[in-house]
Amino acid sequence: MFFTDSRKTNLLEALIFEIRKHKQKSSMNNYYLNKNAQSNGDHEVHTESCQFLPSVLNRTFLGAFASCTYAITKAKDLAAFKKINGCIFCSRPCHTS
Ligand SMILES: [Zn+2]
Repeated sequence: MFFTDSRKTNLLEALIFEIRKHKQKSSMNNYYLNKNAQSNGDHEVHTESCQFLPSVLNRTFLGAFASCTYAITKAKDLAAFKKINGCIFCSRPCHTS
């Protein structure tokens, strides 16, 4: 009985894992711009799930994008006078210097 139940749980967990994997591949991420500059003057772009995502008061919602490239473009549109950079952790392909 115990064995049957735990096997069911394992199957369910495997299924949820597969669904999550599929979602990550196909869906877009929400991107945010840090309103505050880093010490080097850069304003960083983060995904919603990044551990370095600024608090609600310190970020601007950019939109949902398939990659950080689009988010950076949008951020530069919104804040042309600012230095924009991708977060090294969540937007590594868009991180410069
Ligand atoms: Zn980040």
